[in-house]
Amino acid sequence: MHQRLISSADGIQNGRKARFSGCGSPVRFMNHPAPANSRYKPTCYEHAANCYTHAFLIVPAIVGSALLHRLSDDRWEKITAWIYGMGLCALFIVSTVFHIVSWKKSHLRTMEHCFHMCDRMMIYVFIAASYAPWLNLRELGPLASHMRWFIWLMAAGGTVYVFLYHEKYKIVELFFYLAMGFSPALVVTSMSNTEGLEEVAWGGLIYCLGVVFFKSDGVIPFAHAIWHVFVATAAAVHYYAIWKYLYRSPADIIRHL
Ligand SMILES: [Zn+2]
Repeated sequence: MHQRLISSADGIQNGRKARFSGCGSPVRFMNHPAPANSRYKPTCYEHAANCYTHAFLIVPAIVGSALLHRLSDDRWEKITAWIYGMGLCALFIVSTVFHIVSWKKSHLRTMEHCFHMCDRMMIYVFIAASYAPWLNLRELGPLASHMRWFIWLMAAGGTVYVFLYHEKYKIVELFFYLAMGFSPALVVTSMSNTEGLEEVAWGGLIYCLGVVFFKSDGVIPFAHAIWHVFVATAAAVHYYAIWKYLYRSPADIIRHL
């Protein structure tokens, strides 16, 4: 049976008044799950965790993107570093802004709704950006090379879907995320150089495990913040693989200084 987690130290027992957390409500780490087709309402502690878990990654994402750009040998690598870097930074910035708006400006429903849509659209764009370095910088077979543009077509399709049916069919949305996350992996079969793909698969597995928490609002306290941690970890694994296998090592730059 689902239980609200209200701290027993709050003084509810013995007829004393509940201690207030400073967010205008008793200390509470989780609310009831949302009914179908409506959004979960996080507690203020969950709101804070949702903001901080991605806000702290904005600066590392910018630094990491700049590093890849610095390590680029040619124009194609530079463009790819830009595409991937923009996706990486935008993911954490849009997510942080949405969670701040959702926490502090929830009275501005239209604005919050708009940022929530952007947050969801970013997932499609970020999946495409995460695959872009592997698709752009690795040798691919003639058929598989079409995935270079097809992945962005899927991202555009996902964006339009969010625009039209945001929050209407949550299971369909989840299916689209997973389909887009898995389908570009098929081109692996045509890659002659498969170095680093093990790390890509590990990152993918971490995202998939995180989906369990993405779908557990109101069942597990701080579920959405835990999902953020899984996203950050998987993004770090993918960044490491891109940095290590697709770009020149920083040691080379130092040697050539
Ligand atoms: Zn989020």
